[in-house]
Amino acid sequence: MCASAPSVGALYLHIPFCARKCAYCDFASWATPAGDPLMAAYRRALEAQLDEAAGLGLLDGCATAYVGGGTPTLLGPDGLGRLVERVVRVAAPAELTCEANPDSLTDDVLAAAREAGATRLSVGVQSLDDAELAELGRLHDAACARERVGAAVASGLDVSVDLMCATPRQTDASWGSTLLGAAALGVGHVSVYPLQVEEGTELDARYEDDPCPWNDGDVQAARMSQAQALLEGSGLSRYEVASYAVAGKECRHNIAYWTGVPYLGLGTGASSMLTVEQYLRLSKACPRLPRPPAGTVRARLTVETPRDAVAREPRLSALSFSLEFLSAAQAAAEDLMLGARLVRGLEAPLVARAAELLGPGLDAELERLVGRGLLAERAGRLAPTTRGWLLGNELYGALWGLAPGEVATGRC
Ligand code: SF4
Repeated sequence: MCASAPSVGALYLHIPFCARKCAYCDFASWATPAGDPLMAAYRRALEAQLDEAAGLGLLDGCATAYVGGGTPTLLGPDGLGRLVERVVRVAAPAELTCEANPDSLTDDVLAAAREAGATRLSVGVQSLDDAELAELGRLHDAACARERVGAAVASGLDVSVDLMCATPRQTDASWGSTLLGAAALGVGHVSVYPLQVEEGTELDARYEDDPCPWNDGDVQAARMSQAQALLEGSGLSRYEVASYAVAGKECRHNIAYWTGVPYLGLGTGASSMLTVEQYLRLSKACPRLPRPPAGTVRARLTVETPRDAVAREPRLSALSFSLEFLSAAQAAAEDLMLGARLVRGLEAPLVARAAELLGPGLDAELERLVGRGLLAERAGRLAPTTRGWLLGNELYGALWGLAPGEVATGRC
């Protein structure tokens, strides 16, 4: 995708509904009773916004789409099917992922998503240990997860599972069983994340006075290393700090996020990353968006409109956003930071372009990161080392730290 293209390369739709709030979750999602008419109204609003975005020419070159949440499978077969159909109609992406939770991934939902044009499912399994799942407040048990992921694989869709490590009650042995059990289900993709105990969550309150040894940095590092050993031993190669895939089953949508491909996010809490040209194009439908400061090449927008307001007033012009405007040099530093998540590392043209914009400080910083063992030269590219991933905040922070000046922000 050319950075000056009128259309984004990726589309994200956020479905902020869950059957119940998980104990660790601080995402933009809210417990919603089954059959709440808000879900259908919100879905129809997203469809209307998709039509508007398509009318602006923002979706003509969209290669991937992701219907995430929240729990998109709560929309039911009819709702999810209609939404996926609309995405296919306006954007025709080659890869279209729906996020799913095992307890609401019924055969009907699976069939509807597939028939409407979804190509991929990402299932929130998190663990295959019942005690761990209960502690996390998940609605499914391990048997349900195994059975539903098996059904998804049998349906012919590409299937990914999300797994979570460094959680309460987890042991090296139970984590090993989860990893091997997930790989044995025949999925082509696994994402692995250490649990973050976020302020204000039920888990945070439960362990308020507890140092949480199960979530210690060393435990997280050991579990991520264990994941690498067991998943790679099962034929899934690591291609990003948290992502493993059978060859050819890498998630193109997530790779777009890490390689500077512009994307449009619709729905409460959804984020977009647009070139300044695409931002101005969106402004035609959202006249309240301010003019970007001089020198802006990239705009980041997050939808702040609550879900009931989205459902009531579907027009793009009614949305409110928080905004960030990046200069060329800031965007270059951001691209380096995101590229360092990928096994293949920083492509030579990316580094050369960044060198023009960031000056001699870039070489010095890259040398320092190589010296610290966080980056290493591999096949002519600078790539993150295992140590670099384990000390990810230091690596990413150092690369983003090359960005000159303050990022301009706004709200509308
Ligand atoms: S299913 Fe996902 S989005 Fe919903 S509450 Fe649980 S973790 Fe959060």
